[in-house]
Amino acid sequence: EVTIRDLSKSFTLNGRRLDVLRGIDLHVPGGEVLAIVGPSGCGKTTLLRVLAGLEEPDRGDVLIDGAPVHGIGRQRAVIFQEPRLLPWLTVTENVAFGLEMRGIDRATATEQARHWVRLVGLAGFEAAYPRQLSGGMAQRVGIARALTVQPEILLLDEPLGALDAMTKLTMQEELARIWREQGVTMILVTHDLEEAIFLADRVLVLSKDSGTPPRVIDLHLPRPRDRSASGFV
Ligand code: ATP
Repeated sequence: EVTIRDLSKSFTLNGRRLDVLRGIDLHVPGGEVLAIVGPSGCGKTTLLRVLAGLEEPDRGDVLIDGAPVHGIGRQRAVIFQEPRLLPWLTVTENVAFGLEMRGIDRATATEQARHWVRLVGLAGFEAAYPRQLSGGMAQRVGIARALTVQPEILLLDEPLGALDAMTKLTMQEELARIWREQGVTMILVTHDLEEAIFLADRVLVLSKDSGTPPRVIDLHLPRPRDRSASGFV
């Protein structure tokens, strides 16, 4: 679970102070999917970066399972953006690379990487190189790499923004499946309201004017998150 209390963050831009987030209060129960929407520049990415511990808030607390995000060694929430895969490494090697960087020996890293590659539906593509993958497949490799850390919270910053409409639908179902199987809390920034409605339990609507408090829209649990089950296709 994530608890945000009275969170504020401003930047200084050209000598002027820019209040991006002001007095945000939010509770995300464990296992929930929360979508964040709002106009460009309203602070969606900034909020994710604060949650990941990459950005220090000016004021307020961010707690994951009751413990502060800042000042703790292990990264407990990981951000997934567009995947930057290393072109000279295979799918498995790309996923294992992150584990090796954290000091896990190569044999163990490779074995664990294979597990995550299968989990995102890429069995059979372990030895493929990034140039041999479609956009959606590359996206899945990136998601596998983010999941290897086994984060308590998966933060997704417009993960499907660059994909074509059909691949997007497949990937939304893939994310829903990963969520069902892993039970991981997901916080997802998106510009796509249909995506928010399909994936999220609740939607946080940020405003461009940081003086306007964000609204939270409850989409009423339980969500089907499965188009075939809900008769969508
Ligand atoms: P988009 O939907 O366009 O991605 P966003 O809602 O994710 O936008 P942020 O990236 O969080 O918006 O940026 C919010 C505001 O904070 C913007 O006006 C941006 O210029 C400013 N900002 C973000 N990071 C910094 C920084 N490191 N230094 C100064 N200003 C910043």
